[in-house]
Amino acid sequence: MRVLIAARLSQLAEGQTGLDSQDAESTAWAEREGHEVVHVAMDRKSGTTAPWDRPQLRPWVTEPPKMALYDAVLAYRLDRLSRGDNESTNAIEDWAAKNSKQLLTVDGLVFPCEGKDGIRWDVTKRIAHEEWLGSSEKYTRMTAYLRSQNKLTGKPPWGFQSAPAEDGKHKVMVPTDIGRKYIPEIFSRCIAGESAASIARWLASQGVRPPLASAWHASAVIRIIRNPAYMGRRSARISDAVYGKTILRCEPLVDAATFRRAGEALTDRPKRGPKDAKNRAMLAGCLACLRCGSPMYRITTKYGHVYYRCHGNPKSGARRKGCGNMVRLEVLDAMVSERIGRVRAHIMETRIKRGHDHKAELEEIRLEMRELTSLDLPDDEFDARMRELRAERDRLVNLKTKRDEVKLIDTGISYAAKWAGLSGAERGAWLRSAGIRVFALKGSQADVNAIAAKGGLFGPEDTPPEVVDGVALFIPTLGFPLAKAPYHVKLTEPR
Ligand SMILES: [Zn+2]
Repeated sequence: MRVLIAARLSQLAEGQTGLDSQDAESTAWAEREGHEVVHVAMDRKSGTTAPWDRPQLRPWVTEPPKMALYDAVLAYRLDRLSRGDNESTNAIEDWAAKNSKQLLTVDGLVFPCEGKDGIRWDVTKRIAHEEWLGSSEKYTRMTAYLRSQNKLTGKPPWGFQSAPAEDGKHKVMVPTDIGRKYIPEIFSRCIAGESAASIARWLASQGVRPPLASAWHASAVIRIIRNPAYMGRRSARISDAVYGKTILRCEPLVDAATFRRAGEALTDRPKRGPKDAKNRAMLAGCLACLRCGSPMYRITTKYGHVYYRCHGNPKSGARRKGCGNMVRLEVLDAMVSERIGRVRAHIMETRIKRGHDHKAELEEIRLEMRELTSLDLPDDEFDARMRELRAERDRLVNLKTKRDEVKLIDTGISYAAKWAGLSGAERGAWLRSAGIRVFALKGSQADVNAIAAKGGLFGPEDTPPEVVDGVALFIPTLGFPLAKAPYHVKLTEPR
C-alpha cells in the first residue's frame, strides 16, 4: 500500500526543529509492513488541528492530484490525526470514507474496518474522547487559575509583605525595605562563594529578624536563594526548595540571571558536613602536597602523633595512594600562622560591576518560553506569543554587550591584622573562605630543588621555597581566579 505519513514537527534543540522521534517510528513501521512511504508531512502541534487545516498536510488531503498518490494515511497514534473529541474523530472518518482512503496507526488501528479491528478502533476512539474531556477540563481549570493570578494567597516570603491590590478586594506582594536592602546582598554573597552558614551569621550580625525561627540558620538562607519569588515570580512549591509554575508576579529583588547564578553557586559548592565544626584541622581543604599536588588530610598515628598526609590523586579511585609526604600538624599550622601573620599587605576584596550582557533579559525570555509550552494555549495564540518571544530574544542576542568590570577594593585591613583578630577555630574557615592555597613538603632543600627543576608547582622564574626545620612551605597567593574568590590576595612579602 502507498502511505502518506501525518507527523509532528518537534523542537529538537534550541532553534532546531525536525521530525518527532515517535514519528520516525512510523516510517520504520511502514517499511516493516511492506508499505511504500509516498510523503511525510510534518506540522507543529498536529493533533489539535484537523488534517486539512495543517499547512504541510493540507495539500495532500485536499488536492486531487496529490490524493491520487496514496491509499492510506499513517500516523503514530490516533492523537496525531484527531483532537480526541467525537466531532474531530467523526470528521476524519467521514473524510476517509468519502475519499476511499484508509487510516492506519503504528499501534495497529485500521479504519474503515470490521470485526475485531472495528472494535479496537471504536474503543480507542472512546478512550481518546475520555482523555480529551479530561484535558479540556484541565484547560478550563488552568485559565481560571491564570485569571486569579497576581492575587496573593498565603503568607509572603521573607522580605515581602502583602498590600491591597488596585481592585481593593485582593492582596498583592510588595518588597519590604529590609528585603530591598538585604536580598540583593544575600544573592551576591552566595555568588561570590560565601556559604549559607556564613551568610546566616552575617544577617544575624546585622540584627535582621529571621523568618519564622528565632535565629538565622543556613537552611533559611538556602530557602531564600532557591525561592523564585525574589526574581519576581512567586511559584508553586513542590517540595522544600523545589518550585514549579509561577502563580504570582511581583516586583523582583534580583534579576533572573543573578537568581540562576546564585542557585548554581549553591549547587556546585562542595558539600560540607559537620566536619566544618571546630575540630576540623586548620588547613583542611586548603592544603596540598608540594610534590604531587594531591590534597593532604589530618591523620593520627598509633603513637598519637598528628600529621597532615598526602592522600593521593582523588581521581585515581580505589587505587588512590599518597606519595608518602607527611608533615607534623602542629609544626605546619604554626609555620602557616607565622607566615600569614607577617604579611602587611592589605586584603583586597573583589567587587563586580555588572556590564550589560543582556543575560538577565534573555533568561527572562527563556523562562517565559518554558512557561508558555506548559500552558496548553490554543495553537494560534501559542504561535503568536512564541513569535513575539523569539523576535525579542533575537533582538537581545544582536545587541552590543559590555563586559563585567571586576574591581579590587582595598579593605584597609592587613593579613597580619586580620589573622591576629581571628580565634584559632575561626582561622581555618577564614583560609577556606579566602581561597588561600597552601602547599607543603617534608623533605630536604635538594628534594624541593628537584621538584622545581622538573617544573613542578612553581613557574620557571620562581625561587623554590626555602626548607625550614625540614619543611618546605609555599603559598601561591595569586593562584586562584579573580572573579571567583571573595577575597583577592595581593600579597607582597615584607623583607
Ligand atoms: Zn604527594
